[in-house]
This record gives sequence, structure tokens and C-alpha cells, in this order.
Amino acid sequence: MTFQDLKLSSALLSQLEKNQFASPTPIQEQVIAPILEGKDVMGIAKTGSGKTLAYVLPLLDRLQNKRSENREIQALVMVPTRELAVQVSETIILFSKALKNPLITMAVYGGVSINPQMMKMNTVDILVATPGRLLELIEKNAVKIAKTKILVLDEADKMLSAGFQAEMDLIFNRLPTKKQTLLFSATLSNQVTEIKENLLKDPVVIDVQVPE
Ligand code: ADP
Ligand code: MG
Repeated sequence: MTFQDLKLSSALLSQLEKNQFASPTPIQEQVIAPILEGKDVMGIAKTGSGKTLAYVLPLLDRLQNKRSENREIQALVMVPTRELAVQVSETIILFSKALKNPLITMAVYGGVSINPQMMKMNTVDILVATPGRLLELIEKNAVKIAKTKILVLDEADKMLSAGFQAEMDLIFNRLPTKKQTLLFSATLSNQVTEIKENLLKDPVVIDVQVPE
């Protein structure tokens, strides 16, 4: 299979080519089409299997030309660590800048001063965040998530085992019911299954774990 077969828009296809991504990985082959169709998706695949682009490409494809107003973000990507927040936002920025109207992406995480993050929030379309700092920003009204169209939970297993369950639940309560939810994880724990059951509607489940 090629990326062309996945019906991604030409701006994204040419950026893939420019960055020498020749063909999709197995998880990318299977999740990109249902995400483009607007379905909720749970993708389970081991570390290093290309889960970031599996959701970043269709997310950008669906959101292009949608812009945020009044601190209402278009998409929220929740991640367990600062390192991952930075890494994922860099990937989104790389592909977003190929679009005719690039979406503005920002990473926020704890352990650093909140004020600079608050000041930059006005124009953000896609927010990549760790749960604790995100909740702080929501409580300060620096970011609004009531109109978020796409929610991504990346490394859901790690986010849950890091003890973020309470923060995550508070955040989920503030999201609109009508949204697309994408859940990615390297492992399928009971907690991950619980999130899938509580949060995803009619999900397409793709599990490319190799049996041990
Ligand atoms: P995961 O989130 O599943 O751990 P990543 O999304 O971080 O994996 O991707 C792991 C590495 O594989 C990254 O360096 C990424 O650039 C690379 N990669 C992703 N998709 C492809 C692809 N289709 N072809 C080649 N390399 C890819
Ligand atoms: Mg990952």
C-alpha cells in the first residue's frame, strides 16, 4: 500500500515524499482511512510502529481550513510526558506547514512557568498537552475545549499508569459529547479498555500487536 492509496490530500502527500516517508507502516495502513471517515478509532501497536503519523496525517486532513476562535481549540492531543508533547507537536508542525492554511500547534506541559503558555494560547488550533497542565490552563480559562472536534489520547497506557486518571476524567467531562476520539496505546491494559468503553463510540479497533 502507498500513502496515495489512503486518499490523503496532496499537500500532505508531497510533505511525506519530501521527508522520505515512502510507504505507510501497518498501523498507518489500517487507521488512516477510518479516521478520515470521522470514526472513533482505537489503535494498539508497539513502540516505534509509527502511531504518531497514523493520527497526525488524517487529523490535519480533517481539520484543514478550520481555525480556532476565542481560545476554543480544534483538536486536543493528550500525552503522558513533556518529551512526547514536544515530539508530537514537532511532527504536527512539520506536516501542518505544508497546508495552504497551516494550523497553529502548541505543546504545553508542567514543570515550567504557566504564564508564557497562557499568553500564547489565543490563536492555538491544535494543543498537545500533558493532563495536569492542561487542567490548570482550563481552570484559568486560558483554553476552552467545549468545541473541540478531535480528541487524541496518545500513549494512553502510560498516561493511565502515570496516575493521570483523575485529571483525565475532569478533562473528558468538559469536552463536547459530539467529537471524534482516537485512542492509541502500545499495550492494552484494563484501564485502556475502560477508557475505550466509556469514551469511544462504535470504535474501529485496530490491534497490530505481534503475539508473544
Ligand atoms: P510510536 O508512536 O508507535 O512509538 P512513532 O510515531 O514515534 O512510533 O514513530 C517511530 C519512528 O518511525 C519515527 O522516527 C518516525 O519518524 C518513523 N516513521 C513513522 N512512520 C513511518 C513511515 N511510514 N515510514 C518510515 N518511517 C516512519
Ligand atoms: Mg508514540
